[in-house]
Amino acid sequence: ASAQVVVVGGGFGGATAARYIKRRDPSIHVRLIEPAKTFYTCPFSNLYLGGLRRFEQQAHSYDDLRAQGIEIIHDIATAVDPDKKTVQLAQGASLAYDKLLLSPGVDMRWHALEGYDEEAAELAPHAWKAGAQTQLLKKQLDAMPDGGTFILVAPENPFRCPPGPYERVSMVAHYFSQHKPKSKILILDAKDAFSKQALFQDAWQHIYGDMIEWVPMSQGGRVIRVDAKQGLVETEFGDQHQADVLNVIPPQQAAQIAHQSGVADQSLWVPIDPTTFASQHVPDVYVVGDATIASPMPKSGFAANTQAKVAAAAIVNALSGQAPAEPSFTNTCYSLIAPDYGISVGHLYAVNNNQLVEASGGVSPRDADADFRRREAQYGAAWYEAISLDIWG
Ligand code: FAD
Repeated sequence: ASAQVVVVGGGFGGATAARYIKRRDPSIHVRLIEPAKTFYTCPFSNLYLGGLRRFEQQAHSYDDLRAQGIEIIHDIATAVDPDKKTVQLAQGASLAYDKLLLSPGVDMRWHALEGYDEEAAELAPHAWKAGAQTQLLKKQLDAMPDGGTFILVAPENPFRCPPGPYERVSMVAHYFSQHKPKSKILILDAKDAFSKQALFQDAWQHIYGDMIEWVPMSQGGRVIRVDAKQGLVETEFGDQHQADVLNVIPPQQAAQIAHQSGVADQSLWVPIDPTTFASQHVPDVYVVGDATIASPMPKSGFAANTQAKVAAAAIVNALSGQAPAEPSFTNTCYSLIAPDYGISVGHLYAVNNNQLVEASGGVSPRDADADFRRREAQYGAAWYEAISLDIWG
């Protein structure tokens, strides 16, 4: 009988893993569990908020993965039984596996900020999973009067997409500068530093003047209470801020199935073996993407994609009795600050003494000229096309 691999999650990590396992060994029966028939990417969803893309451009179907011979099952994995090696699905089926790969992404930590739960997110969206939340935030920005205030509440580390909140305010600033130039943007941050900070702040000053204000944690930026109905937030210093549009990005944790299956630990994330991305706790289960502890790699789509390729190779090797290969990982996070203004951070990663380490890399130069920024914007767009093709076909 052919070997059975079950993959949970059809996002950046899971869809990559399914494709690369099947490509490396077509005799393996690969099943991909994902509730959504269409996957909308978070990457480039900020450009949609900025008015630079249509929402439909974020959509990817599973047709090409199906055409590769992967069985796509639109369902939710509710439980893993690591002793019987089965995955229980919401609609009743139970799937046996030889190897299981989880790439379920993140869940929001509801109530970590007082007053911020699933209901509050219908009024003050997080838009940190792409779909209805992103469209809701866009609708609110469109409806906001000129001269209004957009507040973005940024989370502590670690969280999905370290530069994401700052790309988001950049794209909202672009939209405001075109349509609502009297408006203000306030970032209330639970941190004192953020990804590509100097590059972002230089560009904000240069392009958007004083439209964007950033309040770090040490100056009272940490929000502890949210009143979504009133659009009001309160910081740990007791200050209240009133928003016309309120975007709350709460603290996050590995998605539910990671906790149920026993791969997550008390940090609320998943410890892995960096050579294979096998769970440190549960045999024959591999975990990639945002759910894992893979620092210094960020929680990015690019990172999930590169981790999934390593895990796919390790799974195929293990099923044929071979040792895992020595892995190498790569990541670049592009951020768009204005239509012709891109910046990036990129690194290669290796495993050294059983630890993930940065092997080389860096950020865009601070003194680059306009042509350089324009080319980085183009590289970012090309990256999105290339990785989408690599994952969903
Ligand atoms: P996901 O891609 O979220 O996939 C998880 C999938 O698992 C989902 O489809 C979910 O439905 C499914 N799932 C969960 N639980 C179950 C279950 N129990 N059963 C079945 N299915 C399940 N990254 C970049 O590299 N570049 C960028 O420019 C970039 N921009 C971003 C902008 C924003 C605004 C945000 C929020 C993120 C951005 N990211 C970017 C980060 C990127 O979106 C994530 O790092 C990436 O999606 C992680 O991949 P993943 O496979 O871990 O999770």
